[in-house]
Amino acid sequence: MSPGSSLKPRSVVWKFYPIPSNNTLPINIQCPSCATSMKFRGSTTGILNHLIKFHNEEYNSLVSKQKNSYESPVQSNENAQIELAKAFATGGIAFRFAENYEFKKFVQTKASDFRMPSRFKIRALIGELKENYTNNLKGKFKSLKKFTVITDGYSDIRRNYSFYSLHVAYIDDNFDRKLVFCSLQTVNRGDADSIGAALNEALEDIGLRFSQCTNITCDGGSSLTLLAQKQGTDRLLFFNLNN
Ligand SMILES: [Zn+2]
Repeated sequence: MSPGSSLKPRSVVWKFYPIPSNNTLPINIQCPSCATSMKFRGSTTGILNHLIKFHNEEYNSLVSKQKNSYESPVQSNENAQIELAKAFATGGIAFRFAENYEFKKFVQTKASDFRMPSRFKIRALIGELKENYTNNLKGKFKSLKKFTVITDGYSDIRRNYSFYSLHVAYIDDNFDRKLVFCSLQTVNRGDADSIGAALNEALEDIGLRFSQCTNITCDGGSSLTLLAQKQGTDRLLFFNLNN
């Protein structure tokens, strides 16, 4: 399988223009026919219009080809399941995704006129969700004076990057104990400075400062120990009892 073959945008434009190799917008798309350069910001409207207006013959032939390539609509439950299984296989999707809560909810609630979004749209939607969640927390923490940070690191060895979780624990105005998941931050390196910078950024996003943090709860990782020292906070250690 060639790289990127798991990404098969449905729009006819990607049968004409080269498929971008990265997801970071905007992307310069060059027309393979007349070499016009266009900015692609996630919507295919502009490059589709160019294709229709300036290369109409090619456009029509691509559309009719695409029509023929779609088989008759999937009707039975069994056929639909087979198509889904194929999507798992060609997309490199983990089998357990079939039991993913959000995926099930999507299947059960999607409208009959649902249109598949592009990967750019999906990326933008995730960004929006994160921003809304963060802004919500910012409002919630407006009058918060002191809090505790709970963090742990995770690595994806295959893709060679790590990220740190940020939970904030505090006592609210009604003297109730609260524990709130705030964010996951990617870190370039696993040292105290990188982690500190990432957590600082995450706290800033929700309107909090490290100076208000009374202690950090984490495992015994040396970079986290150093981080707690650097921030001048107490550190509560949690040991893995299975070891
Ligand atoms: Zn062109």
